[in-house]
Amino acid sequence: MQYFSLHNQSPLVDFKQATINGQAPDKGLYFPTNLPALELDFIKNINQYSNEEIAFTVIAPYVGNAIPSSILQDIVAQTINFSIPLVSITQRISALEMFHGNTLAFKDVGARFMSRCLGYFVKDQDAKVTVLVATSGDTGGAVADGFFDVEGVEVVILYPSGKVSTVQEKQLTTLGNNIKAIEVNGTFDDCQRMVKLAFMDEDLKSNLFLTSANSINVARWLPQQFFYFLAYKQWNDKKNPPVIAVPSGNFGNICAGLLALKTGLPIKHFLAACNANEVVPDFIRTGEYKPQQSIPTISNAMDVGDPSNFVRILHLFDNDINKLKSVFSAVSISDEQTKSTLEKVYAEHQYIMDPHGAVGYCALENYLHSHPLDAGIFAETAHPVKFFDVVEPVISEKIKLPSTIEHLMNKEKVAIKMDAHFNDLKSYLLS
Ligand SMILES: *Cc1c(COP(=O)(O)O)cnc(C)c1O
Repeated sequence: MQYFSLHNQSPLVDFKQATINGQAPDKGLYFPTNLPALELDFIKNINQYSNEEIAFTVIAPYVGNAIPSSILQDIVAQTINFSIPLVSITQRISALEMFHGNTLAFKDVGARFMSRCLGYFVKDQDAKVTVLVATSGDTGGAVADGFFDVEGVEVVILYPSGKVSTVQEKQLTTLGNNIKAIEVNGTFDDCQRMVKLAFMDEDLKSNLFLTSANSINVARWLPQQFFYFLAYKQWNDKKNPPVIAVPSGNFGNICAGLLALKTGLPIKHFLAACNANEVVPDFIRTGEYKPQQSIPTISNAMDVGDPSNFVRILHLFDNDINKLKSVFSAVSISDEQTKSTLEKVYAEHQYIMDPHGAVGYCALENYLHSHPLDAGIFAETAHPVKFFDVVEPVISEKIKLPSTIEHLMNKEKVAIKMDAHFNDLKSYLLS
């Protein structure tokens, strides 16, 4: 499989080069030159395949010759080494729990897959690869966990001091080994600026093999399709495929779902559930795409004012808004609606959602109200304990810590403190 840049000014590359580059040299996002078509029999008989077989069948055409089949099979098995259950909440609404991985958010799937692919690609080269990433919370934990102990790869994570949750900080700072955490005396924007400068710095470029683990990387984007195939496998009423609501920020997860749909997965409709950051809902309504400053909300992993992956979605539908609208809609849900949905679903069904999942639930419920023959799934993208400060006051209950997290809370934090100066980061990386 070859990949081209959506800016059309870069050479074609294979999966290996697209993964190593992250972004194309012309700053465009990589996109596959042709979409594989799934065999009808594979979809019809999906319940006869194991999760690993399904994931392998889905991803293999995108990887092409870049990784031998037997190794790709191992990578796939390690990527989905946890359950992704479909849990029924009401007669017409089910939750797809994407959060049973190590860091309790769906980002584990993309991070685990990418880290293992990159580990394979750098195996035979002498230079160590340094993965540099800035995080506002969930990404850093998933990347740290995914790359932990991957040989030949060193990971440096920058996070803003005092601005990530306790659980998130522990996930970043307690692994050690090849994972280094830098606690920046500044904001997330400072961290991101320092990382961007590092990628442009000539000294660093000539001394280190630097790469990013950004969510636009094809090796993080493509494996997220697994969620949608496994959802369909567990969907009982195959004659009436589900509507799927996906809490969306950078639109990577839902873009993977739409890709699955394009290659033959039967999904009735995709619903992008956004918080107050409503660039895409506005676009669907007006036809105009206007990036905004991000607005802080209680579903903060979706506080994105200019979602990077949306260009990929447009490309999937030939940049034709009407084609897109036939299978996709987007809505904005307020913090007030999010909280009242959390409260109601707990009171009526004893199901505890996280704020992102609650945005998805609310969007889906509204949609089903005007589509009485449909039924659907919302993506529960994080474990509620990751956002206990928001959830516990709303439901007036304490959330039990999963044993993996309890164990983490007793570990000691190790971080390098740094002011928000690029030169300090540069000397650290060169030392
Ligand atoms: C990252 C994240 C999202 C948003 O996913 P995108 O792929 O960026 O749209 C939603 N929920 C949670 C919990 C996240 O961590």
